[in-house]
Amino acid sequence: MSTNTQLFERAQRVIPGGVNSPVRAFRAVGGTPRFIQRAQGAYMWDAEGTRYIDYIGSWGPMILGHGHPDVLEAVQKAAVDGFSFGAPTEREVELAEAILAHVPSAEQVRLVSSGTEAGMSAIRLARGVTGRSKLIKFEGCYHGHADALLVKAGSGLATFGHPTSAGVPPEVVQHTLVLEYNNIEQIEQAFATQGDEIACVMIEPIAGNMNFVRASVPFVKRIRELCDQHGALFVFDEVMSGFRVALGSAQSLYAQAIPGFRPDISVFGKVIGGGMPLAAFASTRAIMSKLAPLGPVYQAGTLSGNPVATACGLTTLRLIGQPGFFDALGERTRSLMSGLDGAAQAAGIDFCTDSQGGMFGFFFAPELPQHYQAVMARGTDTFNRFFHLMLDQGVYLAPAMYEAGFVSAAHTEQDIADTVAAAANAFRQL
Ligand SMILES: *Cc1c(COP(=O)(O)O)cnc(C)c1O
Repeated sequence: MSTNTQLFERAQRVIPGGVNSPVRAFRAVGGTPRFIQRAQGAYMWDAEGTRYIDYIGSWGPMILGHGHPDVLEAVQKAAVDGFSFGAPTEREVELAEAILAHVPSAEQVRLVSSGTEAGMSAIRLARGVTGRSKLIKFEGCYHGHADALLVKAGSGLATFGHPTSAGVPPEVVQHTLVLEYNNIEQIEQAFATQGDEIACVMIEPIAGNMNFVRASVPFVKRIRELCDQHGALFVFDEVMSGFRVALGSAQSLYAQAIPGFRPDISVFGKVIGGGMPLAAFASTRAIMSKLAPLGPVYQAGTLSGNPVATACGLTTLRLIGQPGFFDALGERTRSLMSGLDGAAQAAGIDFCTDSQGGMFGFFFAPELPQHYQAVMARGTDTFNRFFHLMLDQGVYLAPAMYEAGFVSAAHTEQDIADTVAAAANAFRQL
């Protein structure tokens, strides 16, 4: 049996950094990544046989916990019938119907294989529909690693962004404007100066890639108004929040607060694949009919709507659509948050939490931050120590301060109690 350290050394020889996605490498928190051997329910076991309560859930998809028997059965059956055909299947239609049943803003959906692909395609569609080039995104929101999205804010509001990755030519991001999250004044100014050139505004409505930060209701409402006034499209990136914070996704929560609210294009991933490579973008029939083969916006994929992935996603959506599922999940998540709050308070530590459905965030700060700079203002030392103290006690949190956490339906009251007890112990040692 190999240890995590041995596996990591071996991995680093043949895989850059030893990982296939950077945050897995534990660079932010230090230490050796755990190589996971198997998972069941709320638990994962590493190569050394150590068990962890899993609060990453594959970064969101595993809303039912690992290895739900119905999902396993559906995937096994689908695999026997064939891995991939490159031709349409009934199950793709069923999954499209299942997604749209919960997303009244959309009439049609196209399935793809990753959130990156879905976000990139949504932007191409928005540009194709409007005939415009510019896009607005917000600092701290992640929409996948497409070239045009790897941008940080320019020096002033009027300047467009700079690439955050080598290999992205400045010309590729010259149409991307990066603004501060929850800053109404900034986006009003941007539309006032270049409103007729903006194809779309893209947002994570509940941002999960800068820990957990909600877009305020007035902010979302104002963006909707500005997009309508200037003929731009409003793109909700719900790759993380979709079918995770509520059955109707984050947009259903904003629709409750803002009468008639709808995004123009929605992007999904993570939960809708149930752990298999599957993502989607969705919109009205009028907008989606601009896509190939009906319209001029090209988009395609060899493995899109893969029969095994759609079986996994479809069964996952059926199970989370059962009455009371999100009430119970939200309750479980809130009980974890209030347990952590109480333990931090008892230890005299500045701490605050927020959650929605099965997604949560916590901050070593006295109040919830409203944008990226505020999230990063506190530094990472306390979080990093807390992370390792928890990991040593068998609780696996996201290995970076700027990531959200996830509770699944498989987490029991006992798991929550064990986690809170571990946190109380960790807080005393910070
Ligand atoms: C995870 C994520 C993506 C990217 O999805 P991948 O499947 O990793 O390509 C895009 N947007 C958001 C909001 C995400 O959380």
